[in-house]
Amino acid sequence: MTYRTRFAPSPTGYLHPGHAFSVLTAAAAARDAGGECLLRIEDIDATRCRPAYEAGLYQDLRWLGISWPEPVLRQSEHLADYEAALETLKARGLVYACYRTRKELAQAAQGAPQAGDPILSDDGEPAAREPAWRLSLEAAREQLGADWDRLRFSETGSGPDGETGWQTARPEMNGDVVLGRKDIGIAYHLAVVIDDARQGITHIHRGHDLFAATHTQVLLQHLLGLPTPVYCHHALLLDSDGRRLAKRKGSKALRDYRADGWTAADVRAMIAASAKA
Ligand code: GLU
Repeated sequence: MTYRTRFAPSPTGYLHPGHAFSVLTAAAAARDAGGECLLRIEDIDATRCRPAYEAGLYQDLRWLGISWPEPVLRQSEHLADYEAALETLKARGLVYACYRTRKELAQAAQGAPQAGDPILSDDGEPAAREPAWRLSLEAAREQLGADWDRLRFSETGSGPDGETGWQTARPEMNGDVVLGRKDIGIAYHLAVVIDDARQGITHIHRGHDLFAATHTQVLLQHLLGLPTPVYCHHALLLDSDGRRLAKRKGSKALRDYRADGWTAADVRAMIAASAKA
């Protein structure tokens, strides 16, 4: 089987050294394995994605010396596929309409959201709000039966808590996640598992901040009959004060380093040094 990994940025801002670390790690793993590293643009959220950020990321990646096979998959061009998967999950009773906002849920339960539970207006009718569609862990557990306890994934990274080797998937740590957003229709977890399967991704290299998300994604793969890739969650880059070099407000983007006269080799060296620290 061809080793195939991917870099899947969301063009909601300019790329930072943390992104560069992910893509360089993925590209190196693909090169070592004689495979390929695809580029996927995760732009389902039209309210936050901007053409300038997408153009900027191609420019930054080329500057870093990264190349990728064409055509690039842009999620905004495949919304119908995600919607069809959501409809399938609805038909199988695996998602439910949730009318509460996140804030209301936190106030009401201070815990995982409960199925159903529409907000009623004064006349007893569901309030005129679009629902979010949440994955029902209860329904999933019921439908999977004994398979629920066999949900697992192989982790080859070495996270801060030493999570390496076979991991038991514990989707309950994320609760009933939203799969259909009320604002844009589809949510990240659903689109990402569909595209990892569609693109034949065998290995996923990404930051450890997405380790918890993997537990939910493995369940979704199982429910949708999709394969589970091997995961490698890498440590997050920290600056000299121990703060994350990520999309944090005000943190320096790759283009800012470039404007300050850094070369791609300088950025690579900085990343290599931070990754070792
Ligand atoms: N699009 C996500 C992000 O930019 C990454 C998703 C993934 O690697 O699974 O944070």
